[in-house]
Amino acid sequence: MTALTTVAPETAPNWGRIALTLFALGALVFLVAFEQGALTGGAPVLHEAFHDARHLLGFPCH
Ligand SMILES: [Zn+2]
Repeated sequence: MTALTTVAPETAPNWGRIALTLFALGALVFLVAFEQGALTGGAPVLHEAFHDARHLLGFPCH
C-alpha cells in the first residue's frame, strides 16, 4: 500500500497579484477622477464621459 502525500497550500501572499491590483485601482481612480485629456491628445473625452456618467447616476458633482 502506498501512502498518499499532500502538498501544503501556498500561504505566502501573492505579491505580484497584490501589486497588479493596486496598480489597476490606481489607474481606475486616475481615469475616473483626474484624467483631463492627457491620454486622449488634449481632448478631455474620458473626463466628460465619466462626468456624464456621474450625472446619469444622480451623483451631485457641481
Ligand atoms: Zn457635473
